[in-house]
Amino acid sequence: MGGTMPNIPEHLVNLRGGFKAFLAPPPEGVVRLTVGEPAFDTPSSISDAAIKAIQEGDTHYTRGEGRESLCTAWASHLRNRWNIPVEDAGIVITPGAKQGLLYAMMVAAQPGDEVILMAPSWPTHVEQVELVGATPVLVRCEQPSFHPNLDDVAAAITSRTSVILINSPNNPTGAVYTPDEMQGLVDLAIKYDLWIISDEIYTELIWNDTEHISPAAIDGGFERTMTITGPSKTHAMTGWRVGVFAAPTSVAKVVGRLQGNTCSHIPSFLMPAAEEAAKNWAAVAEFRDDYIRRCSLMMDLLNGIPSLNASQPQGAFYVMVDVTATGMDSTTFAARALDEAKVQVIPLESLPGGEGFIRLSYAAEDEVIQEGLKRLGDWLNSQ
Ligand code: PLP
Repeated sequence: MGGTMPNIPEHLVNLRGGFKAFLAPPPEGVVRLTVGEPAFDTPSSISDAAIKAIQEGDTHYTRGEGRESLCTAWASHLRNRWNIPVEDAGIVITPGAKQGLLYAMMVAAQPGDEVILMAPSWPTHVEQVELVGATPVLVRCEQPSFHPNLDDVAAAITSRTSVILINSPNNPTGAVYTPDEMQGLVDLAIKYDLWIISDEIYTELIWNDTEHISPAAIDGGFERTMTITGPSKTHAMTGWRVGVFAAPTSVAKVVGRLQGNTCSHIPSFLMPAAEEAAKNWAAVAEFRDDYIRRCSLMMDLLNGIPSLNASQPQGAFYVMVDVTATGMDSTTFAARALDEAKVQVIPLESLPGGEGFIRLSYAAEDEVIQEGLKRLGDWLNSQ
C-alpha cells in the first residue's frame, strides 16, 4: 500500500461542470428559476412504449445506430419538418443530444483546431471543444438581442478554424437566428471550408415569427453540417437520455462506429419510445402553448421590477436579465439572491459575453415563477 497515483491529464482535470455548479439542489424553501427542463411529464404513449418493450423482453444488444424503424422515423421527421435531406442511414440515435454533440466535435475538430462559438455560449459546448483538444474561439453576440454579427464571425476565422457551432434557438440567450443570419453563417462555412455543428434541440420552441432554417437545409450546407436534436426538451424526456445525430451518411457511418466502440447503443427498450416521440408531436403543441403563457407571465413580472432589464426571449425557455442597474455584478447578484431572497438564478458573469446578465428559466410551474419573481422584487425593493 502507500503507492502514488499516475497523472490525470490536465485538460481533463480542468474540465468544468457547465452550469452544474448553479444547478445544485438548493436548501429547502429556495425557489429555483434555473432548471432547463420541462415541468411536464413525458407523454404516456411514450412511457407506455418503453414499459411494453421491457415487459416483452426487449433487453438485449441491438443495432448500434438505433433500430432501422427508429432511424427512419427521425430521418422522416427531419426531412419533412426541417427540409434536411438526410437519408435514413444518416441518423445515429445517441444517449442524449450531448453525446451526439461530442461525437460531432470529435469528427470536426482535431487537437490544435479552433472552433467558433457564439458568446455567451452554453458551457458544455465550450467544454466539449476543450475535451477534444481544440480551442474555443468565442465571438460576442450583439446585446441585448444576442444575435451573431457576421462580420465579427468572419473576423474570427483563421487558418486553424475547423468548425462553426450554431445553436438556435439559443441556450442561454433565447435568441432565434434569422434566415439571413443562417444563410450568412453557411456562406462563411462554405467560403472557408468549415464544418457546421448545428445544435437544434430547441427548434420546436420558437415564440416569435422567425422561421427556423436549418443550416443543413441550405444549399451547400448539408454536406458540411452535423445536426443534433432530440426529444429531451420537446417531449419532456430529459432523463431518458435520447438524442438524434443527423448528417450525410458517410459521416453517420463514422459516428456509428464511434458509438459502437463506446456505449454500443441507447437502451434497447427505449428505442420504441424514442420512435413514438418522433411520430408524436401533439403533446408538444400543448407544451408550446404553456411555454408561451409562462414566458409572458415571467416577462410581465420582470417588467414590474425596475432594476431588472429583461430581453424579450425569442425561443427556448430562458430569459436574459441585465442586473447591472442593481449595482451588483451577476455573480454577486446570484449569491445574494440565493442567500437573502431564497431564489436560485444562474449568473453569466464568468461567461464571455454574459457579463452583467443572469439567466432565468420559465420551464417551471406558474406558482414557482410567481413566487420567485415576488421574492426578487421584494428583496430588491428593500435594498
Ligand atoms: N443542447 C443545448 C443547447 C442544451 O441546452 C441542452 C440541455 O440543456 C442539450 C443540448 C442537452 O440535451 P440532452 O439532454 O438531450 O443531452
